[in-house]
Amino acid sequence: MRTIRRNDRGGAVAEIRAVLRVLDLLPASTAVTDAAGEPEFDEHTELAVRAFQQSRGLSVDGLVSEETWRALDAARWRLGARTLYQSVPDPLIGDDVRQLQERLLEMGYDVGRADAIYGPRTARAVATFQREVGLAPDGACGPQTMNALRRLGRKVVGGAPLALREIAKLHGSGRALVDKTIVIDPGHGGTDPGVTVPDGLLRWTEADLAFDLARRLEGRLGAAGMRVHLTRGPAPERELTDRQRAHLANELGGDLFISLHIDGHRNPEAHGVATYHYGTESGVTSTVGERLAGLVQREIVMRTGLHNCQTHAKTWELLRLTRMPAVRVEVGYLTSPADREKLIDPLFRDRVVEAIMAAVQRMYYPVEDDVPTGSIDVSSIRATIGAEAVSAPAP
Ligand SMILES: [Zn+2]
Repeated sequence: MRTIRRNDRGGAVAEIRAVLRVLDLLPASTAVTDAAGEPEFDEHTELAVRAFQQSRGLSVDGLVSEETWRALDAARWRLGARTLYQSVPDPLIGDDVRQLQERLLEMGYDVGRADAIYGPRTARAVATFQREVGLAPDGACGPQTMNALRRLGRKVVGGAPLALREIAKLHGSGRALVDKTIVIDPGHGGTDPGVTVPDGLLRWTEADLAFDLARRLEGRLGAAGMRVHLTRGPAPERELTDRQRAHLANELGGDLFISLHIDGHRNPEAHGVATYHYGTESGVTSTVGERLAGLVQREIVMRTGLHNCQTHAKTWELLRLTRMPAVRVEVGYLTSPADREKLIDPLFRDRVVEAIMAAVQRMYYPVEDDVPTGSIDVSSIRATIGAEAVSAPAP
């Protein structure tokens, strides 16, 4: 599909406007047709597209590219409007699938992440639900299953909802970092040094620098009152797989997960910082993970001056299997002489750590109270928490 943009006309524009109306982003009173009676991609449409992109964490450009179209297409479905089933090879994707997954999670069924994809795990959870309410366990969600969900959905709240993990944990948790658990994952280690660059008699390795960053971060966040766990020590006997790291983070009950890496490339010109969160190319994403990635990325860029290589959605096991907002940061390129010179400076690494601290703190601000990037004085985080504790009402 070609990109649809401002002043375009025709059937595709009509479809886009129809979806935006379903989503209440476009008031019905704004119908605009050109002289030939065709719908026009007018300024209201563009504003609505921008609002939609912002709500989905897409880049906000007001253009309906293929990526934005796929997200719009998925968003138009309301739970109950179609039968959901495990379709192979192309699974059904949509907001209705996400609503179903969230409802099942609320009721204590294990669908994994509410990722809006009707995969085998969702089908199994539906089948389990069907069996328990006396329906044929075909794993598809049609009218009968919907009725059962409507009957039971409200009553059975209070299980251990996995998906609400992300949003509820965050929003119910207040601003203080005290009593939050963060899992910091220094990449590589053991027999795997990661990116390695010789420097005279010295040898810089990604594993060592990532561990140094993790240690500094551990100290600072620990001082701010967080419970901090590292996934490995400075010289582990064997390296952990990404799957093991994710399981470890889950076992530790992490509220946030940050994996630290330093990139490398054959071309010494490659440089800059990039942050990755869970998501697929079709726009399915971990909203909270994406927010954490955006904050980490922006704070590091602003506070260190590293080149901005943006945030990206990935389906890596590390990000997919972790049950908390999770990001992986590639803090510069060890193979870039300019980045390397910065990275081997401990003061620079402290600035990276302060940037990540500011991002972690901002995760616990309600979005409407968020502050500009670079504005948090990380040395005051501890002081603020102390003041809150003192001013708490006496029992
Ligand atoms: Zn790495």
